[in-house]
Amino acid sequence: MTHDDASLRFLFNDADIRGESVVLEGALQNILQRHDYSSSIQALLGEFAAAAVLISNNLKYHGKIVLQARSSQALDLIMVECTSDLKVRGIARGNLGAITATPMELIAGGQLAITIEREANQRYQGIVALESATLAQALDSYFQQSEQLHTRFWLASNSERAAGLMLQQLPAQRQQPADARESQWHTACLLAETTTAGELLELPPPTLLHRLFHETPVRIFDPRPVAFGCSCSRERSLNALSLLPEAEQAELLGEQGHITLDCELCGAQYCFVQSDIPALAETGRVH
Ligand SMILES: [Zn+2]
Repeated sequence: MTHDDASLRFLFNDADIRGESVVLEGALQNILQRHDYSSSIQALLGEFAAAAVLISNNLKYHGKIVLQARSSQALDLIMVECTSDLKVRGIARGNLGAITATPMELIAGGQLAITIEREANQRYQGIVALESATLAQALDSYFQQSEQLHTRFWLASNSERAAGLMLQQLPAQRQQPADARESQWHTACLLAETTTAGELLELPPPTLLHRLFHETPVRIFDPRPVAFGCSCSRERSLNALSLLPEAEQAELLGEQGHITLDCELCGAQYCFVQSDIPALAETGRVH
């Protein structure tokens, strides 16, 4: 199986550390092609997408992870979500032509919200200020604040591909002194730190993992495919429409007698006529 558009889990043989590696290509292109994004925004969307996939592997139940940043810089909003079955979608809003020296400048000083949504409407959200130079560092500080287990991220992206690596300490399973446990974690991070953006983006993950960790071998699991996927539906669009005041619904319906709603995330179009819209269906012709 190809490693493009896949997430790969690995475990250290001799340490309580797990890892995850992801490479996105087609799934990312599906996000990028929806709007006319600058190369800086494409790179940031790629990092968000890789990060969302890596974090979604922490989901123990069916649900999704939403990574969303708001800022008063070039981008008002950037959002990528990934479901537990590895469907990703995302969008950026603001000055879509903005070019910055580094992708993070697009949202510098803003806030990053990480939302974990489980089915049955269980929702947990954590927020971190975007003060770091990279998204990976922002995520490192978020996990440092919120989780007891050490977690580190490495992310890279260009207009073609995005890739990421995550290491996470597991609850202690081995009989060993605490300082040995910390030292193993420290070593694994130092080794991961030697990876370059070029290697992350270009090397097949098993090759990269072997190159980084050959002295502390890891067991690599089968890759899981990642794909673009949107959760929009005709029913959800109709629900959104139904929340508008009746007069506004009637105005939208207008002379043409139908309302078309476009999904900004996947491009799907949903068309409704008067009889589809509950508030208007019974009032007869508006005009
Ligand atoms: Zn959609």
